[in-house]
Amino acid sequence: TKLKVGLLFGGCSGEHEVSISSARAIAQALKSGENTNKYEVLPFYIQKNGIWQGVEIAQQVLAAGSPYLPTDEQQGKHNLWQFPSQASEIDVWFPILHGPNGEDGTVQGLLKLMQVPFVGTPALGSAVGMDKLAMKTAFAQAGLPQVKYIAVNRSQIYSNPCVFPKLCDEIEATLGYPCFVKPANLGSSVGIAKVRSRAQLETALDNAASYDRRLIVEAGVVAREVECAVLGNDQAKASVVGEITYTSDFYDYQTKYTAGQADLIIPASLPDAITTQIQEMAIKAFAAVDGAGLARVDFFYVEQTGEVLINEINTLPGFTTTSMYPQLWAATGIPFSELVDQLIQLALERKVNS
Ligand code: ADP
Ligand code: MG
Ligand code: MG
Repeated sequence: TKLKVGLLFGGCSGEHEVSISSARAIAQALKSGENTNKYEVLPFYIQKNGIWQGVEIAQQVLAAGSPYLPTDEQQGKHNLWQFPSQASEIDVWFPILHGPNGEDGTVQGLLKLMQVPFVGTPALGSAVGMDKLAMKTAFAQAGLPQVKYIAVNRSQIYSNPCVFPKLCDEIEATLGYPCFVKPANLGSSVGIAKVRSRAQLETALDNAASYDRRLIVEAGVVAREVECAVLGNDQAKASVVGEITYTSDFYDYQTKYTAGQADLIIPASLPDAITTQIQEMAIKAFAAVDGAGLARVDFFYVEQTGEVLINEINTLPGFTTTSMYPQLWAATGIPFSELVDQLIQLALERKVNS
């Protein structure tokens, strides 16, 4: 009998549409080649308002490739816990939700409660990977080099008596310009600004605080952006290294999601020693957050000094046919459909309660 794979996609995040594209590619891969005899795919869709939809509507969303919009009768109802009954048949879950409410440990906690194995990192590592401040603490503890940064809490921006000017003074003195202001728990560059003056810094802090209570300000580096894919559980492997190039000011939301604005170069043209260093750092980073299954680890390579700094880990990276993660594995010798198969096997290998 075939294993029933619950492909969970959509979600309450800015990356809802990317999730649909990722799920389409994975569903296709599970229905082709040798996977056809092993797996039966049951898609489940989380609407932008958090409501779960079962196989029928999920199939429609996959076929259409665009979101299913909440109906009028659903407005104001938050029946998040009414799961489609088909959910009880699932042997293994494959969540492919990007960003908050899916990549951050929330859904992973729920799947653990269901006592069914699932693809990817459990709750702790997902939450640590999503929160840039917790992530940097874990990386620092593992001895991974990173840019200088300052943690900011929303209360420091709006407090009375006002500490805001002092905070900005400290940022200017410690980090200088340009620096990057980011909400701690987001992705896809949403809410991120590159700032070059006091006025821009003040505006960017105010804007980032509208997304999150926890913020981070980082010193800006001039560097090449290189990424490495990790696959495995306790004995994870690293892929070849890829590079992202673009002509915009930084790798912002528009550059990420407008066709033709960024190029992926696989493998990146790097000295062998740097490639090896990046691969070792990627595996260390994966272990530092207690990752499982998959992750894409992103770096800054400062060519002038030869330094490699870790930027971040993404525990549920983009998984469309043109995304960096599957392309890195394809270039390393694991084609898309085999990658998806291995990820499910890695999920089954982990005990449900570990
Ligand atoms: P996200 O999780 O949203 O992808 P990142 O921290 O990766 O956020 O930042 C998005 C992009 O902003 C990076 O890919 C890079 O182009 C730019 N960036 C972020 N931080 C820095 C930094 N400290 N120095 C230089 N560029 C940065
Ligand atoms: Mg990210
Ligand atoms: Mg990033």
